[in-house]
Amino acid sequence: MSTKNEVIKKLREDIAEYSKRSYMRHLVSGTGGNISVKVPDSALVLITPTGISLAEIEPDMNLLVDFEGNILENPLGFNPSKETSFHLVVYRIRPDVGAVAHLHPPYATAFSNKGETLPLLTINSRIALKDVPCIECALPGSRELCDFVKEGIMKFKSVNAFLMKEHGILTLGPDLKSAFYTADLVEDTAKIALFTEILEVSKKG
Ligand code: 13P
Ligand code: ZN
Repeated sequence: MSTKNEVIKKLREDIAEYSKRSYMRHLVSGTGGNISVKVPDSALVLITPTGISLAEIEPDMNLLVDFEGNILENPLGFNPSKETSFHLVVYRIRPDVGAVAHLHPPYATAFSNKGETLPLLTINSRIALKDVPCIECALPGSRELCDFVKEGIMKFKSVNAFLMKEHGILTLGPDLKSAFYTADLVEDTAKIALFTEILEVSKKG
């Protein structure tokens, strides 16, 4: 059986891996986005630091925080993501959630600008995502944005993917792999919806 420290070490490596994969899949650009994972059977969360590209996240850059946001481990002295508070809100409301990804994928973000639910035009997306509602826009890192996320999570209790108006997306899952693949599917679903709209417009001529 692994010790708690061994579990945390592995989760640090996993966050680094899924951060890089998010960047490589164009689910985020620049220094945007943040990813977190809950240490199983605890009220502890590892989260990416602020202002660092997800392409460059290394295991020890991630911070260990408790559910109130107190920093418990910070080997390289980074500051936590400015969105730490909304990640923690998700874990507090949804005990089934083990990982949270906040990313800025361009097609899904384009749809978020409408302030509407993402059109799910494929059978697979309807089965896997069920519903992708849109959370209101507020300044990144603000209390207001955290309140909008809380509102969305409370209203759509079993939903694992949200658009964030004029900003990006938020995906949840039992683990990092699941939160990452949900984000990947949301972005491809948005791409398909966009091309479907373009084809319909061009058909009308
Ligand atoms: P951080 O670099 O602080 O995680 O913020 C990035 C972001 O996407 C803000 O919404
Ligand atoms: Zn963001």
